[in-house]
Amino acid sequence: MDMSTPMDKGPRMKLVMVGNGMAGVRTLEELLKLAPDIYDITVFGAEPHPNYNRILLSPVLAGEQTMNDIVLNPLDWYSDNKITLHTGKKVVKIDRRARAVETEDGTRAEYDRLLLATGSNPFMLPVPGADLPGVISFRDIADVDAMVQASSQYRHAVVIGGGLLGLEAANGLMKRGMDVTVVHIGPWLMERQLDEPAARLLQKSLEEKGMKFLLQKQTPELVSSPSPARG
Ligand SMILES: Cc1cc2nc3c(=O)[nH]c(=O)nc-3n(C[C@H](O)[C@H](O)[C@H](O)COP(=O)(O)OP(=O)(O)OC[C@H]3O[C@@H](n4cnc5c(N)ncnc54)[C@H](O)[C@@H]3O)c2cc1C
Repeated sequence: MDMSTPMDKGPRMKLVMVGNGMAGVRTLEELLKLAPDIYDITVFGAEPHPNYNRILLSPVLAGEQTMNDIVLNPLDWYSDNKITLHTGKKVVKIDRRARAVETEDGTRAEYDRLLLATGSNPFMLPVPGADLPGVISFRDIADVDAMVQASSQYRHAVVIGGGLLGLEAANGLMKRGMDVTVVHIGPWLMERQLDEPAARLLQKSLEEKGMKFLLQKQTPELVSSPSPARG
């Protein structure tokens, strides 16, 4: 006869995940399917949002979708799965002796298992002026908000990089009414994905929509010059 009771299973292990992004949360979804009962899960995310589909930031920038449309795991999903979620909290310390993590504001959580799923940081050109106001990357909702805000105030945008993300950003900014120039170091656009004839066709069709291009151009420096405000 099986005499075991839920009490016999002992306390659950504590799983802490740092990074509330696409890969990490997908891992939790699989883990919950395989072993729903073995962990008490706590998630720390630096962004002030539940997990969203980062890939769809381009349609959000272009005004075709909203932030709500691209949420993958709404707050209810975390509570339904008994996950403690800390949004807007960046983990800045891992105390491996005490097996605990700590955030900027001093929030602390102990772990038995620690999963680091912190993604990556966008590459910023290491040139003078890269830290000027108005110079941003394209990685998260905050970047999209900054671009949307800029598009309502200013007329001209320059996108450095004519790869897939650069062209998506340029397209979104153009749809927001900006005059956009793409500066690209390569001999043709998206040279990792396209051969020259295909890239020329793409360039032509984007030029017909009003996008401008500077190909085979290095950016040695970014300088601050007042852009005419939208009139
Ligand atoms: C506009 C855009 C379009 C893309 N399109 C495609 C595509 O078509 N196909 C494709 O395969 N990929 C695409 N990607 C890439 C894809 O989004 C990433 O590969 C994917 O999001 C990686 O998932 P991740 O969980 O590793 O990291 P992320 O989704 O970046 O999540 C990591 C999270 O960890 C958080 N974090 C970092 N450090 C800390 C810390 N110390 N404490 C707490 N939280 C922290 C970050 O704020 C972030 O929210 C695109 C990316 C962008 C930006």
